[in-house]
Amino acid sequence: MKSAHPLADEHFRDELSNVDKEGKRLWIFPKKPKGRFYNYRTWLSWFFMAMMFVGPFLKFKGHPLLLLNVLERKFIILGMVFWPQDLNLFALLMLSFVLFIVLFTVLFGRVWCGWACPQTIFLEMLFRKVEYLIDGDYQQQKRLMDQEWNTEKIFKRAFKHIIFFLLSFLIANTFLGYIIGIEELKLLVVDGPMDHLGKFASLLIFTSVFYMVFAHLRELVCVFICPYGRLQGLMLDKNSMVVAYDHVRGEPRGKLKKGEEEAPRGSCIDCKLCVSVCPTGIDIRNGTQLECINCTACIDACDEVMEKIEQPKGLVRFASVNNIIEGKKIGLNFRNGAYGVVLAALFGVFLYLLITRKLVETTMLRTPGMLYQTQENGKISNLYSIEFVNKTFDKLPIQLKLIEPKGEIKFIDGKDIVVDKESVGESSFFLLLDGASITKISTPVTIEVWSNGALIEEMKSKFNGPVYSKEKEELKEKEKGEKHED
Ligand code: SF4
Ligand code: SF4
Repeated sequence: MKSAHPLADEHFRDELSNVDKEGKRLWIFPKKPKGRFYNYRTWLSWFFMAMMFVGPFLKFKGHPLLLLNVLERKFIILGMVFWPQDLNLFALLMLSFVLFIVLFTVLFGRVWCGWACPQTIFLEMLFRKVEYLIDGDYQQQKRLMDQEWNTEKIFKRAFKHIIFFLLSFLIANTFLGYIIGIEELKLLVVDGPMDHLGKFASLLIFTSVFYMVFAHLRELVCVFICPYGRLQGLMLDKNSMVVAYDHVRGEPRGKLKKGEEEAPRGSCIDCKLCVSVCPTGIDIRNGTQLECINCTACIDACDEVMEKIEQPKGLVRFASVNNIIEGKKIGLNFRNGAYGVVLAALFGVFLYLLITRKLVETTMLRTPGMLYQTQENGKISNLYSIEFVNKTFDKLPIQLKLIEPKGEIKFIDGKDIVVDKESVGESSFFLLLDGASITKISTPVTIEVWSNGALIEEMKSKFNGPVYSKEKEELKEKEKGEKHED
């Protein structure tokens, strides 16, 4: 397939910056970035990291602000409890989120990856910074990699990896805090691992995974593993804003020669600084590539060069292909508009479902396989089972009111129902109707569920019983009387 980039030599698409021809990993040593965008990203990352580490401790009305307990299938988001019964809401939220990402990517490329993805934030703003502190900038890192194992290398490697492991352990604790809740995590710390072997094992597994990702896999996650990254080609078009090299202005590129008054024909002096700072090791001058995470490090690097050679900044900048070639501004097109409409509709349905979501869900069923029973007093009974899902943080006393037909509700265990907070309660009851009131084989039944003086739900069901016949009844009475006389 032909590249959209008029200068692109297609060979770069057959090679990977981090794998050699034999398929062996090539370690990437990105130059320490600096500049305007890097500063913005640093501040934003500190903010996100602070939010993430503090998150498990935050509470709303005494409950976690965010809890994603997949094991117990209990989720608390912004203080609201969600249960497996809310799967429809969750599916819709996920669908809206995926569509939002698609729409956002169509408009702004992979900005999420470079600026907000936890993988990039931890790797570039935590682990990489530690690495620069211990090993130095990219040239010193390369030198250290190539040198023999001596005291300096052993010390630096050991020190760095111990810190990496501790950081991974910290992230794993936070991650576990979002899954099991901070109280459970505190118990693990206070009681010790032997009393909570399962949780401790999970903590070690998470720590190992994070350590592997941030110390070893690194950019491979963004380039090969992350499905979002792999889908870039489908989502971007010529109007998408991405980190792009202005080849119209930059080419033909050429090195600045000593004593040369004029800049080369194009603005690019082929210093390759934009390549040196790239954490995925690509050359942005080849055009938009799947490996680009829009981290903007190359913009900062090139701006610095442009400043030095007294050229306007922005040779590498946020721009669309059409913006560079035709000078077009980003605008609304049919695809963006259609995504926007679908997204708004989905979000509207999601909000409606969220607002109308029931905090107590009731399921009532006539016990299957059971016929009606005739009681000694002539009443007819049907057995029902009823289940309550209490999604609130309070204990709920439940009362049932029979609305129609006239009759009586009698619980099997004779007790009132009280459903514990955030749990499921079950009970069974007989519905007793006067035999004379049954005019159909299947009589519609309406029962209201009340709690603390508030109507929770109206339940509909059927009552099965023998159809009352005055003649039959009189005949029975007569037969009884005759037997008595005998
Ligand atoms: S940093 Fe700018 S000038 Fe240097 S090679 Fe990259 S695009 Fe060209
Ligand atoms: S090409 Fe630029 S924006 Fe893309 S990943 Fe490399 S440095 Fe970041």
